[in-house]
Amino acid sequence: MSSGDLTILVAEDEESFIEALELGLTREGFGVEIARDGLEALEQFQKVRPDLILLDLMLPKMSGIDVCRTIRSTSQVPIIMVTAKSAEIDTVVGLEVGADDYVTKPYSMRELVARIRAVLRRHQGEETPATAGREKILKRGEVYLDPERHEVSVRNKLVKLPLKEFELLELLMNNAGKVLTRDVIIDRIWGAYYSGDTKTLDVHVKRLRSKIERDPSDPKLITTIRGLGYRFEDLKH
Ligand code: CA
Repeated sequence: MSSGDLTILVAEDEESFIEALELGLTREGFGVEIARDGLEALEQFQKVRPDLILLDLMLPKMSGIDVCRTIRSTSQVPIIMVTAKSAEIDTVVGLEVGADDYVTKPYSMRELVARIRAVLRRHQGEETPATAGREKILKRGEVYLDPERHEVSVRNKLVKLPLKEFELLELLMNNAGKVLTRDVIIDRIWGAYYSGDTKTLDVHVKRLRSKIERDPSDPKLITTIRGLGYRFEDLKH
């Protein structure tokens, strides 16, 4: 389904969460705006007029609870509170700050997106198709990549990958069996932010191999096509 032109304001101060949310929600077709503290959340709310706010409870400068109350005094925009500990949920619920729903960290992207859609659906009073069928889980040989959950597992073991390595693996797996030239990979993964150091790509491939290959010195999954680029082998499963 298309998320249309819906914009989500993410009020969050932890960079790792911001990065994952930006990627995950964009992938779902949402527009994403970021606020890194409570005051910025209020400013962004006025400026952006988002369709939904994902509001962390513990924010610098102004707490999520106060942000929620302030916004509620003028707007019925859907708000999902994000709490770090389950103990804080009681506070959010007990204070009746006017949030539509809440999620507890750590949450999966799948769970979060389901909550977002449910809240939007209730708010808009219209049916949207379920998220099922949208997930494009990639499975190639021993490697399994779930874009929604931002998870990779190899030989049934979860593997932690930094963002760029994850994106690189996803790109290669999406094009399994095809050679991707260095230029194409660099453009798609780094774009204008590429440092220009030609080693960057090779370093990422090397790190990726060390995490997914049985024998990184003799790679069978990501192969080097000399003088051209890399290919993820089109393994049957
Ligand atoms: Ca926080």
